[in-house]
Amino acid sequence: MDKSDGRYVITDLPRVGKGVLAADNFTHGELIMRERPLLVFPQRTYSTMGGASFWDVVASEMPESLRKSYRELYNCRRPNLTDFEGIAMTNALRAGRITGEDESYGVVGAQSSRFNHSCTPNAHFSWNPNTFASEVRANRPIKKGEEVTIAYTNIYQPYDERQRSLKTSWRFSCACVVCSQPGSREYSDKRRPFIDTVRMFKLQDRLMNNWLADASQPRDAMVRLGLLYAAAAEHEKVVSPDVWLLLCRLLVKAYCAVNDAEGARMWAQRAAAHTVAFMGSHGGWLAVARAPERTEWWGLRAKRCHL
Ligand SMILES: [Zn+2]
Repeated sequence: MDKSDGRYVITDLPRVGKGVLAADNFTHGELIMRERPLLVFPQRTYSTMGGASFWDVVASEMPESLRKSYRELYNCRRPNLTDFEGIAMTNALRAGRITGEDESYGVVGAQSSRFNHSCTPNAHFSWNPNTFASEVRANRPIKKGEEVTIAYTNIYQPYDERQRSLKTSWRFSCACVVCSQPGSREYSDKRRPFIDTVRMFKLQDRLMNNWLADASQPRDAMVRLGLLYAAAAEHEKVVSPDVWLLLCRLLVKAYCAVNDAEGARMWAQRAAAHTVAFMGSHGGWLAVARAPERTEWWGLRAKRCHL
């Protein structure tokens, strides 16, 4: 089992059961853990089959060498669900679509399933289809001794919805640094759903295309929107790389569209850092940072507005 050079430890933590502690400092985007899963299963099967037969098959087919590690994981659905199904429900991480298959898969790992949840997680889980392995990377710099956390649910929901989702699926009430600050909840509950709108692709495309083609809108309208997203995300200490990547992309495009190389460069560099945290590579963003004027977005507003 890849223990990432002993750079983390799985240990008992106060109030939350087992969790993962950083045993070293990690830089933004750095790989904390990579491991092959104990179990990969189609998430639709258990929700539509419901019966025990699927899990009986899983239980009987699992090699003895993996069974011990699997059985050591927590079943929060006891006694309603048998251990095999309950452990899968408690510990599965979303792998999304696996090569060639149209449905979403869940993966259970001996170590990757040990991360606890936070509404401001410092790490990000992703599935690497090339290595058929779970990967957890740092969302931001992590110091030795810090607990490493990931998000189990959509952290952009307001407090009540997050708590409901965590309670329903994982049977616990979140007491992370965000949830334990009732004083700032009112604003947080407005900011988080706002940040989430950056993931509404159709809305974002429409806003961008309208602005590009409409000379009556302020020249910096999309830059301002992007900066508003960034300020809200920073305020909420939300660092999930998928959302940051989208808002960095919006800002790079908006700056490029009005020929602002400096702004485009800065946000392309940030996009590169978040892409590393998301998928382990820069995804071409460093090339954009070096020469934003070579992108197809450069000067786009003048072109579309026929200025
Ligand atoms: Zn929380």
